[in-house]
Amino acid sequence: MNWKTLDDLDLLGKRVLTRVDINVPVENGLVSDTTRIDRIVPTVRHILQAGGTPVLIAHFGRPKGKPVPEMSLKVTLPALEAALGVPVKFTTLDEAHETIAFAKNQVVLIENIRFEPGEEANDPALAQRLANLGDIYCNDAFSAAHRAHASTEALARLRPACAGRLMAEELDALEAALGAPQRPVVAVVGGAKVSSKLDLLGNLVGKVDHLVIGGGMANTFLAALGHDVGKSLCEHDLANTARSILANAEISGCEIILPSDVVVARSFAANADHKTVEANACSADAMILDAGPETIAQIGACFAQARTLIWNGPLGAFELVPFDRATNTAAQAAATLTKMGKLISVAGGGDTVAALNQAGAAEDFTYISTAGGAFLEWMEGKDLPGVAALST
Ligand code: AMP
Repeated sequence: MNWKTLDDLDLLGKRVLTRVDINVPVENGLVSDTTRIDRIVPTVRHILQAGGTPVLIAHFGRPKGKPVPEMSLKVTLPALEAALGVPVKFTTLDEAHETIAFAKNQVVLIENIRFEPGEEANDPALAQRLANLGDIYCNDAFSAAHRAHASTEALARLRPACAGRLMAEELDALEAALGAPQRPVVAVVGGAKVSSKLDLLGNLVGKVDHLVIGGGMANTFLAALGHDVGKSLCEHDLANTARSILANAEISGCEIILPSDVVVARSFAANADHKTVEANACSADAMILDAGPETIAQIGACFAQARTLIWNGPLGAFELVPFDRATNTAAQAAATLTKMGKLISVAGGGDTVAALNQAGAAEDFTYISTAGGAFLEWMEGKDLPGVAALST
């Protein structure tokens, strides 16, 4: 897919309608984590330096199409101004035209776009209203790109459109991992349930060379292969689905790596009494909470001969010591190989960022996506409407 970037458009004197994700956590009226704000800085600075007027469009919470005072984007202003190092003019959508007219080469922030009922409906009238406020559209909100909303989809079609810095960085990283990757490619899919990741597994078996299945969802596969998994988290009703994923993998030549040994305990608790057993030897009163050392070694060997890694979901109950071992060890192995220049490693979605941070491995990964739902839908092979609308 092809898309323009900020470098392809002349921004001098232009009003640049810039869709950003500044849906930040707020505690006691203050932004408690500025990560998302910090990440849009390169795009906004670039527009300013190129002589344009960045007009920021963003959502905040879920006001469901009507004004909700507690969900006003005003609360982000101090953090936004601190991150950008310049003043930001705040405006309602009704007053935006006038505000923008008096804000040449200054940053403007429009009130929560989800106050408008037309936003989530991808309403052409709202998109046109927004288009009338600017000359160019720039989408820097990859994390909102899986939604076809007025500010992410319809608007992109009404003005010359481009990807912002963060969006371009994300798309490049994803393309390198699954679009045209260096092979062999290994995917790690872990986490609680198979049911939430069916599309993901289905897409990956046709695209990657090795698929490591871990976490609670591995139990469903072990049970489908006839192993007793005791009290483990397991979706027994998905046994047929699990078997058909394994059959499809075989047809596509994708090697599936399931735990060959597991760490079992009688309770889901930190430091619970535990032991390592073969994957077919979980007793009726025990539950599988992590992969064992033999499996960890096999995953490490797989990483060592791979060129590309894509990772979603922990390999065990990583919040509970010592059931974080497989996740930590595998993450650290991937980080080391990446640092040595031997592996391109991309990870994202749900608990994955937290798990890799906890393992101290996140910094060394090639790219960590914080996009959540959009990252998962992309990994599932779905077209993201906000990205498709940018394609030329
Ligand atoms: P997800 O949101 O699907 O990525 O799942 C993450 C959750 O799966 C984490 O809270 C883990 O504690 C949990 N998990 C991973 N492995 C297991 C397991 N063997 N048994 C129970 N929960 C697990």
